[in-house]
Amino acid sequence: MSQPPPTHAKILVVGAGPCGLTTAISLIKNGIPIQDITVVDGALHGQNTSRAMVLHAATMEALESIGCVDNINLSSIHMQGMRVQDGKGSPLLIGDLTSLQPYTKYAYSCNISQAHVEIELHKEFERLGGHVFRPLKAIGMKPLQSGLQVTFESGEVITAKYVVAADGSRSVIRSVSGISFADPDGIEKDKTIDPRTSQIVLADVSFDTSLEHVFPTDPYLGTFSISKDGLFLTSPLAHPQAKSVIYGATDPIFRIGLSIPLDQGEAPSHPGIEVLQRYIDERGPMVISSNPSRNPNKPVHLKEVYWSSRFRTHSAIADTLFKRIHGDTEEGSGGIVMLVGDAAHIHSPIGGQGMNLGIRDAVGLGAVIAKHIQSTTNANATVDTDLQMLQDFAKERYEKASRQIAMTKRFVWFVVLLMNPWSIQYWVLYMLGSIPFFKRLLIWQLSGLGNR
Ligand SMILES: Cc1cc2nc3c(=O)[nH]c(=O)nc-3n(C[C@H](O)[C@H](O)[C@H](O)COP(=O)(O)OP(=O)(O)OC[C@H]3O[C@@H](n4cnc5c(N)ncnc54)[C@H](O)[C@@H]3O)c2cc1C
Repeated sequence: MSQPPPTHAKILVVGAGPCGLTTAISLIKNGIPIQDITVVDGALHGQNTSRAMVLHAATMEALESIGCVDNINLSSIHMQGMRVQDGKGSPLLIGDLTSLQPYTKYAYSCNISQAHVEIELHKEFERLGGHVFRPLKAIGMKPLQSGLQVTFESGEVITAKYVVAADGSRSVIRSVSGISFADPDGIEKDKTIDPRTSQIVLADVSFDTSLEHVFPTDPYLGTFSISKDGLFLTSPLAHPQAKSVIYGATDPIFRIGLSIPLDQGEAPSHPGIEVLQRYIDERGPMVISSNPSRNPNKPVHLKEVYWSSRFRTHSAIADTLFKRIHGDTEEGSGGIVMLVGDAAHIHSPIGGQGMNLGIRDAVGLGAVIAKHIQSTTNANATVDTDLQMLQDFAKERYEKASRQIAMTKRFVWFVVLLMNPWSIQYWVLYMLGSIPFFKRLLIWQLSGLGNR
């Protein structure tokens, strides 16, 4: 460890992923001195996985409010549309993100790797004088008279009045706080869990051929193919022409994503080039297949795989995003735990909403903790003074997360319906796809502007 962490902090942020870093930046921007904030992370190095690939309009606005948007905006691809098509490439729906123009200046989706977003947030945090103490893996927490004492695997302890659980979906802070984490509908009642769509493979790749004819760069378009075999996403992620470069690559980088039906067995945890090429050839859009009998144009081959991952999707939400943990009966002892990001809620990545809602939680969380601290500065105040503002904030974010989980489940449900072209629902959706209001509604929901 480069620097030893302090033993006391006013606010301890556990986890320096996008949501922990955003919380810390928001605290500073809302007037909390950097020496009152300690950020720790269990991993030796940060920013090492791609995962999320898009920032929606509402998240860009939230990042703008804490001065973190410019570099992210400049180094991302501004995707203006999404084409939903059937397995043969016939369009079912074309979503036009420019329809958001009356409501936001970010009338596009910012395609950028999560790793890149974290690098930009980390740079801003350091520019403001912050430092992430790592590796410090939280393993326990207990209340004391002077706050909550968090213990770390390496033996350190830090006591803080406010502990922000930004330690991801397997949050230790959530679990040692006794907060449960479960699907709001109950797994067995969740009709959207379909064995054909719950195993997902994602990869950042380049191709050996220019795909301008398939994914034109002006405007940038993403493609979502849905067939009886499942779904297949192909979306631009980085393009030198858009000053968006990742992995040091000079080629355009694409994100591909597909579902692997569970009855076909478990996909490799990090599929390599041969496996991904096979997936593309078997079920990807014909125009990017290397199989000449499927691809009527020039066969296309994968050139490089930069990152890949396989995972199972499920939804969960913490039963509360706020917990006051008392040391003993004395007023003012112990401290407050607030949950943010994946520690608070998770769901399928279809719709690309997870990191987005988490970042918006974090911008608001920094502001409300700062407000609470400012309201408790008079001599008689304790950590229990004005707790209602924290409870109200937690309740509001809980409701937003519940709405988002429900919305993501609806997206998955649409996908499952579109996998059955002989069903009546398929044709209803097909008709809806031609109605401008329905398309605008879909884009509005994706943008997060209605669920900031
Ligand atoms: C494969 C995949 C694809 C995804 N695709 C999308 C997408 O397209 N769009 C989207 O919006 N979202 C997507 N997500 C979700 C997105 O990645 C998360 O919502 C986002 O990472 C949440 O950020 P976070 O800061 O809450 O948690 P994390 O990013 O998980 O960060 C948690 C941090 O806490 C640290 N930590 C963990 N445990 C401890 C501990 N005990 N002590 C100290 N530190 C600890 C970790 O090292 C990590 O740095 C995807 C997720 C996955 C897995």
